[in-house]
Amino acid sequence: MKNKTLELNQIKSLEKLLEEQRNEILSNGKTLLVDFSTSEDDLKDEVDLALSDIEQGMKMRLGTREALYFKKVEEALLRMQQGEYGQCVECSAQIGYRRLQARPTAELCIDCKEAAERNETLNAEGRKHKSLGQTLNFKS
Ligand SMILES: [Zn+2]
Repeated sequence: MKNKTLELNQIKSLEKLLEEQRNEILSNGKTLLVDFSTSEDDLKDEVDLALSDIEQGMKMRLGTREALYFKKVEEALLRMQQGEYGQCVECSAQIGYRRLQARPTAELCIDCKEAAERNETLNAEGRKHKSLGQTLNFKS
């Protein structure tokens, strides 16, 4: 497999994609936007919010799924700043531009992703068998 690094204009367009996604999540949780844009002093005037409270509130307002995705988007943008974006976290291979376009928060190359998915399937199978055993035990 070729280990071609991303071109600057490709990174720029992926960065735009990530920022659009981030803005979309933020506009879905308008209160969150207020939380983040208010200065510390203003926050004290309203409610004394600890960061964990904000995170908790974010999860409640956005749903855990969105909060997790938001974190992934933030992390991807951070990796971009550090010049590590687009590298597989498992094997350091360059993740293909097409894959990143479809999934700009991707952290694994397609090979590692497939390996991880195989593991997940195996674990899910294991759980299924276990619960099946429990059901049988319960019936007898
Ligand atoms: Zn990999």
